[in-house]
Amino acid sequence: MPAPNFDVIVSLAKRRGFVFPSSEIYGGMAGFWDYGPLGVELKNNVKQAWWRHMVSLRDDVVGLDAAIIMHPRVWEASGHVAGFSDPMVDCRNCKLRFRADDLKGAPSDIACPNCGMKGTLTEARQFNLMFATHVGPVAESASVAYLRPETAQAMFVQFENVATSMRRKLPFGIAQIGKSFRNEITPGNFIFRDRELEQMEMEFFVHPRDEDEWFAYWVGERHRWWTDVLGIDAENLRLRPHDPDELSHYSKQTTDIEYRFPIGWSELEGIADRTDYDLQAHTAGSGKKLAIFDEASGEHVVPYVIEPAAGVDRAVLTVLVDGYTEEQLAKDKRVVLRIRPELAPVKAAVLPLLRNRPELVERARALTGDLKRRVAAMYDDTASIGKLYRRQDEIGTPFCVTVDVESLDDGAATIRERDSMTQERVALEHIPERIEALVAGRTPWQGVPRETSGEAS
Ligand code: ATP
Repeated sequence: MPAPNFDVIVSLAKRRGFVFPSSEIYGGMAGFWDYGPLGVELKNNVKQAWWRHMVSLRDDVVGLDAAIIMHPRVWEASGHVAGFSDPMVDCRNCKLRFRADDLKGAPSDIACPNCGMKGTLTEARQFNLMFATHVGPVAESASVAYLRPETAQAMFVQFENVATSMRRKLPFGIAQIGKSFRNEITPGNFIFRDRELEQMEMEFFVHPRDEDEWFAYWVGERHRWWTDVLGIDAENLRLRPHDPDELSHYSKQTTDIEYRFPIGWSELEGIADRTDYDLQAHTAGSGKKLAIFDEASGEHVVPYVIEPAAGVDRAVLTVLVDGYTEEQLAKDKRVVLRIRPELAPVKAAVLPLLRNRPELVERARALTGDLKRRVAAMYDDTASIGKLYRRQDEIGTPFCVTVDVESLDDGAATIRERDSMTQERVALEHIPERIEALVAGRTPWQGVPRETSGEAS
């Protein structure tokens, strides 16, 4: 199926409580978004999937949660104060600012794309993308600090503390998930390009002679994460090595993982070979030599760094876009978010067939309570069963449990699976355990089609 356009995703995300424009009642703020009740669950699930794969399941990577504001000299040494900028052009008439790269021609020759006046555009000037703030009560130049534009620098600056406290030898990695801030000139395409964003980054320190081997390893490993862990269709993913002229100032080789979005192939993650650029820069900046003892050679070496850096917001967007499906059924159409059960914000929804039967409601509520102890579950009786199924399909809930009149006699209820719409009849007391095992993929689904549901496609 072709990727849905962004409007469909933006509308679903807002209507169903995934993502809202920040400060919407005041008109919103470009580049800032709030994750709603379902969005925060999905986002946490994505981050957990990354952390589990990159840290918990490995013995060569450890975690870090560093401060967002760091010493301003970090950003001087890293090259961000001088180099983290885009060339910009201002219009003297309408005061709007444009990326020089987006203009078709030299500023002196063309009319302003906004107000149409000629001769009003300035020459291109570098505009730094870091947000500056002041630390302490006095707003003077000495107190300027920056909101970090990437999480990576803390891993370099804390390299020695981590290596020593955790008794690490090469190769090993430090991973971090956290907020970063970039004053993007053209934020947009929903949560694709934000000014406040979240990143999942890992710095893997290796002996310089092993850089190519580890670079290739991490490119492969990260691609596999998107397909096998997040469940993204491999057809919609590609690896794109950077041309030498587009490499960042710190990188010797970079490969991007891109997704086929409605706006075209766009970056989800970059795997960069940062060499010893950052450790050398902070050695020069701080006067403290950042190196590690290498037993094989009996010498101190400054490691090289292979960095897989991914965006949390782009991962959430990818899960929504890749999972979105519209299906024609016998009688109506349904929207299904076909996402991995581990990622779904709600794993099981309990739906009583009749809400005016107190015994039924009571059973259903008790079952919801039991389910919640094992998986994210919810109770809903605010519409007819057909509508309730559609609502759960649209948010990707893998299992719905219907408590019906028969349940009062046979002590069982019907579990219905999202994608196949087939059903299993299971004893109430076994349902939480069964659903937990299904969500974890420990046991196969054995549903059968049910004519009564009216859902046959
Ligand atoms: P782009 O070329 O799209 O601006 P980048 O190459 O500057 O991205 P990196 O600095 O490599 O991005 O950051 C690593 C990851 O962080 C990106 O692959 C992306 O997933 C995410 N990211 C970067 N900038 C943003 C942003 N403004 N909004 C959302 N995610 C972002």
